[in-house]
Amino acid sequence: MTTDDPILARLTALRAADLPVRGGRTMAYVYDSGREGLEELASAAAAAFAGVNGLDMTAFPSVVELENDLVRRATALLGGRAGTFTSGGTESCLLAVLTARQHARRVRGVTDPELVLPETAHAAFHKAAELFGLTVVTVPVDPGTFKVRPADVAGALTDRTALVVVSAPSYAHGVIDPVAEVAAEAARRDVLCHVDACIGGWYLGHLRVAVREGHFAQDAPEIPEFDLSVPGVTSLSVDLHKYAYTAKGASLLLFRDAELRRHGWFAHASWPGYPVVNATLQGTKSAGPLAAAWAVTERVGAEGYTALSTRVHRATRALADGIGRIEGLRLLAPPEASLLAVASDDPDVDPFVVADEIRGSGWYLQPQPAFGASPATLHLTVTAAAAGEETVRLLLAELEKAVGRAREVGPVRVDPAIVEAAASLDPEALGPEEVDMALALAGVGEGGRLPERMAPVLAVLQALPPRLSERLLPEAIGRLYQV
Ligand SMILES: *Cc1c(COP(=O)(O)O)cnc(C)c1O
Repeated sequence: MTTDDPILARLTALRAADLPVRGGRTMAYVYDSGREGLEELASAAAAAFAGVNGLDMTAFPSVVELENDLVRRATALLGGRAGTFTSGGTESCLLAVLTARQHARRVRGVTDPELVLPETAHAAFHKAAELFGLTVVTVPVDPGTFKVRPADVAGALTDRTALVVVSAPSYAHGVIDPVAEVAAEAARRDVLCHVDACIGGWYLGHLRVAVREGHFAQDAPEIPEFDLSVPGVTSLSVDLHKYAYTAKGASLLLFRDAELRRHGWFAHASWPGYPVVNATLQGTKSAGPLAAAWAVTERVGAEGYTALSTRVHRATRALADGIGRIEGLRLLAPPEASLLAVASDDPDVDPFVVADEIRGSGWYLQPQPAFGASPATLHLTVTAAAAGEETVRLLLAELEKAVGRAREVGPVRVDPAIVEAAASLDPEALGPEEVDMALALAGVGEGGRLPERMAPVLAVLQALPPRLSERLLPEAIGRLYQV
């Protein structure tokens, strides 16, 4: 934004402290196609539809038209025969769970539903269980591959299971669960099966097209079956604001058919106001993100996405090879999509310190605390803007330097006394004073300012029992929102 308007100038100034959203150096949260004019097109489309209300599709038939087009494009790529446009991956996952709960209740008479989740499933599914009153049954993953084992899922299924979730790929490790095998187990028990392809669906679908069309002379990637064409898969989420490179606020939830979709819809005629039919969790909703998604996918087209996926695949492979050669780092698993999880294989190299160090050189790699069999890692989402040979070379060089500096700095050590004290705390019973004390110990003070270096905070967080972290994190973030 360049402008003389002081209000807009203030907004521009606020952005200075943010991570860059373009250029490919922010390796999480943002998706940049690197294509000229796409962002401008999305902005213009969003502006034209900003005031259109998706609440009432009979009053604004344009939203039906746009949504049907998007669902048609997605089902042509990923199977299924119906879909819903949502505000993002989280809402798609929430609706998948809500739909399954209602389906289980109405069709199978399940009143106390369970949700079977591999421990690598996205947090959004735990949120869904909490919101919609399902009991989570967690299934461990293979500690070598970080994929769920079909037999373990089969063992977790009961008459109360409403839904089983698999990831294609998982966010934390970038590997694809055995979708076909798990879906077959679910189908055998008459249980619904959701594929979380929020991050991978659009990318993998088009990469598969690239393979089919012969874009790879050799070394073609092998893409396992993961979509709604797989028997037993009943719904699939795919975010457009990720690898379709559309403006934020755009995802699709696809279903095997409209009969399943209807169970997630809400209708209400028992009040004196307008008759309500909500396909999503929102009421009034701007059609801006829908129009932007429609415009961007229309402009890029299947051919464009196939080329973008090919580019991203090659870059992911080059990064994986390069990172494997950096002393002190290792890939946690061979990447099966466009995500990398990088761990340390040297006790003197702390991944969180590496993240702080490379951030100082203008790159953002996302720290992921250790959990279960998964050590602390750095997450990289590779998008097309980062996929140039020069960018890949630069990133590898900066990463190697950051590892060197991290080795000099040394790993963050957490005082064992803190860990011991934390283990004896009951997170549910903590009052405000104890929370203050705990946060001070963790290095999060009053005043609501984020520390310059995150490694010490992350190290403490990682050492705490997750339930305690879940009690303390909202308190720490809450301090940012003091008015
Ligand atoms: C991004 C993501 C989600 C959640 O999507 P949001 O758009 O951030 O709400 C769910 N699952 C996976 C695998 C994801 O990568």
